[in-house]
Amino acid sequence: MSSFEIVVVGSLNVDVTVDVPQAPEAGQTLLGGDARRSGGGKGGNQAVAAARLGRSTAMVGAVGASDGEFLLSLLRGENIDISGVRQVEAPTGQAFVFVDTEGDSTIVVSPGANDHVEVDRELVAAARCVLLQQEVPAAVVEEAASVANGIVVLNPAPARPVAPSLLANVDVLVPNRGELLGLAGGVDRGDLVQLAQNLGTRGPVVVTLGAQGCLVVEAERSTRVPAEQVKAVDATAAGDSFCAAIADALLDGADIVEAARWATRVAAVTVTRQGAMASLPTKDELA
Ligand code: ADP
Repeated sequence: MSSFEIVVVGSLNVDVTVDVPQAPEAGQTLLGGDARRSGGGKGGNQAVAAARLGRSTAMVGAVGASDGEFLLSLLRGENIDISGVRQVEAPTGQAFVFVDTEGDSTIVVSPGANDHVEVDRELVAAARCVLLQQEVPAAVVEEAASVANGIVVLNPAPARPVAPSLLANVDVLVPNRGELLGLAGGVDRGDLVQLAQNLGTRGPVVVTLGAQGCLVVEAERSTRVPAEQVKAVDATAAGDSFCAAIADALLDGADIVEAARWATRVAAVTVTRQGAMASLPTKDELA
């Protein structure tokens, strides 16, 4: 059995995106623009980001019959191993994305097949780095983190309670501000550094702060890394590319602050382009 530098365990979605004059309200019917279909899901985005950074990458996930082939062919086209992607009876995961004239999105995710992911334990155990997010069941994330022998990176998005036993198996936690506050018990006060240090991960916490960059919190120090000044057009997949780039740099032996600087660079390119997978840069483009 082959082993991979990066194994991503997570969601695969078809994103259906419609431009709307304003975010829909309860009970409202709106006319929008033409629907666009594209590959997405935090897991799929992270896998594509990792592969474009030049890493041998495998995906562990699940798709349904309809639309499943669409996503699998996107992954194959990026040279991502799909032996760990199950094809199940449930509908393929979908994200319905409404983008208003300000560029802000309202998103509804229908997980479908993502609720039926099974951890390929051999693939995960053999990986040099395992990338995890939370669009698949908690039990799947916990199992993957517990069988991993390489570096475990968890992006705790979307926000939900995380078991202390999972946090104890995480080498690098990458929450945004809201997710960190949620993990810290919903307190919206106090110092982000202290909140991150009290979470109980076995390694650093990198708190992403959108256009403000990120905060790297280690046991003994914290370091602010400013974002690059770019003309942002679409922040979709910024966090996903950020996590993949953290893994990429750590695999090269970078320390966590160097890794965060590289991730900041990669995410900055991602926000200058439209779309999820479509916006993810290749190593050549970053050179
Ligand atoms: P998420 O989408 O997961 O909430 P963030 O919005 O915090 O994540 O973005 C992740 C990273 O992407 C940030 O830490 C930053 O490096 C980069 N980023 C996001 N928005 C911008 C922006 N407007 N300009 C430059 N970089 C950005």
